[in-house]
Amino acid sequence: MEDTIFGKIARGEIAVERLYEDEWVVAFPDLSPQAPVHVLVIPKKPVKNILDLGPEDREMAGSLLLACAAVARKLGIDASGVRVVLNAGTDAGQTVWHLHAHVLGGRPLSWPPG
Ligand code: AMP
Repeated sequence: MEDTIFGKIARGEIAVERLYEDEWVVAFPDLSPQAPVHVLVIPKKPVKNILDLGPEDREMAGSLLLACAAVARKLGIDASGVRVVLNAGTDAGQTVWHLHAHVLGGRPLSWPPG
């Protein structure tokens, strides 16, 4: 797949505030936050979106979800609630073609999404 800004962040070529990092993923604040807490969790491996995951990605995908919960706990929104969003594809509004989970919270979030 083509390199993206998140690929550069994952490789450390662009500096971000690394709120969480492990062998599989990195978490950093969204540039354009839509809630008091808005963090992106990306895999270090370049994968376009969840539709591109294969069975070999089981551990990475699990680590991504665990990292979302770790970020929610670290930023103190575990008690009030958190929304994790994975946009995949054009209709879902995906704009950066490197898998990322949005971790949102810190205010009541409406449903359904637009
Ligand atoms: P999506 O629409 O799901 O593809 O979300 C892409 C997200 O990436 C948006 O919320 C952007 O604000 C965010 N974003 C784009 N570039 C950066 C960047 N360099 N650092 C942090 N967040 C970014």
